[in-house]
Amino acid sequence: MSKQPSSYLSSKLEGRPKADGSGNGIYALEPINKGELVAVFGGVVYEWDAFIHLPDRERSLCIQVEDRHFLVPRPIGEGDYVNHSCNPNAGLSGQIGLVAMRDIKIGEEVCFDYAMSDTMPYDEFNCGCGAVTCRGTVGGNDWQKPELQKRYAGFFAPHVQRKIDAQRKEKRAFEQAIRMAKSPKFPSATTPVYE
Ligand SMILES: [Zn+2]
Repeated sequence: MSKQPSSYLSSKLEGRPKADGSGNGIYALEPINKGELVAVFGGVVYEWDAFIHLPDRERSLCIQVEDRHFLVPRPIGEGDYVNHSCNPNAGLSGQIGLVAMRDIKIGEEVCFDYAMSDTMPYDEFNCGCGAVTCRGTVGGNDWQKPELQKRYAGFFAPHVQRKIDAQRKEKRAFEQAIRMAKSPKFPSATTPVYE
């Protein structure tokens, strides 16, 4: 068995303990440009029913990659030390890629927002990220917040984006139904509905 970590971390970053002793993080050793690939997560995929029985540490280092599927790093590497921030400088590209959302300076910790990947209540916590925009608690339903959907457009995992799209479609259909109910002149059944 290879001891190479299952996740990839760009050579422009390193994983190391945080200065405040609250765990590990990944930090830029060189400037990183907006859009640049920072890390690619890897590991073993578990479905929810088996996943919830894994040890806490394994669950806290995983990433949700589908509605009920989770990628657990094995072996763990520096690329798995990515933390949550409510004001992140990185976002997801696909299910397992992490890219810079803006230019990142040397020494900055690179974080993403777990709302970009999480739709299940497996890693909910009180957040102490210190951002002005910190929402205080991080949970499996945060992806539903309109302000986050707007701020992270293009950086959600595909399974989360599908949920966002479905929610919007449902909202549009509801609003359309309300408009039709209120309309004094009922439109014909052939009136096209534009997406
Ligand atoms: Zn926060």
